[in-house]
Amino acid sequence: MRVGIFSDIHSNLEALDAVLQFLHSQGADCFACCGDIVGYGPDPRACIEKIRALRGPVVAGNHDWGVLGQTPVHQFNLAARAAIEWTKGQLDESDVSYLESLSLTERFEPLYLVHASPSAPEQWEYIFVVSEAEAEMDYFSTRVCIVGHSHYPFVVERRNDGRAKLVRRQRFEIRSGAKYVVNVGSVGQPRDGDPRACCVLFDDDTKLMSFHRVEYDVKAVQEKILRAGLPEFLATRLSSGR
Ligand code: ZN
Repeated sequence: MRVGIFSDIHSNLEALDAVLQFLHSQGADCFACCGDIVGYGPDPRACIEKIRALRGPVVAGNHDWGVLGQTPVHQFNLAARAAIEWTKGQLDESDVSYLESLSLTERFEPLYLVHASPSAPEQWEYIFVVSEAEAEMDYFSTRVCIVGHSHYPFVVERRNDGRAKLVRRQRFEIRSGAKYVVNVGSVGQPRDGDPRACCVLFDDDTKLMSFHRVEYDVKAVQEKILRAGLPEFLATRLSSGR
């Protein structure tokens, strides 16, 4: 089994299409999505439709909950809030009921999916540093916890000897006995300085996991964002990946 893993699509259809095409080309036969399908971008309905059609688990993110009115708006900055309000006006009943159907966590052996953090999924806290990832290791019982939320890819491994460290390789093995927190970055709004869409491939036979960056038509998305009347910053930041 090959799992295509990704998160934080944020209504960016061009980026999602590019990632799905890439993952299919790499033999992915199922998918795992860590949430924030909507928010920020111009194509919420088309993104929901694509994700819905995939085989595999999907969890809810804070923007998905924001659109449903389940995350208080004061938790979002002005641009995010404006995009959430705009998105609410775009979705139909079946889109809304799909978002409502998403759980905050999903177990998909050997993976555990949660948008923000396994210790408090509904608090939407960020995991930024190794010690924060290490503190989360006792809150899931699978070998790998997949998160998104910060739009910043990283891997923290806790070995048998109990020490946690950053894994700095693009491709790495999920070792037996060790535990991992893997942030799979963002499809639709990367913030690590690389504007290309981010995704991960996991081969359940070889236990190899690898990060990939995929080019997409940034300009087309920026034009759609401006045409929709969404905040200009949401368009410009896509060029720099910040
Ligand atoms: Zn996000």
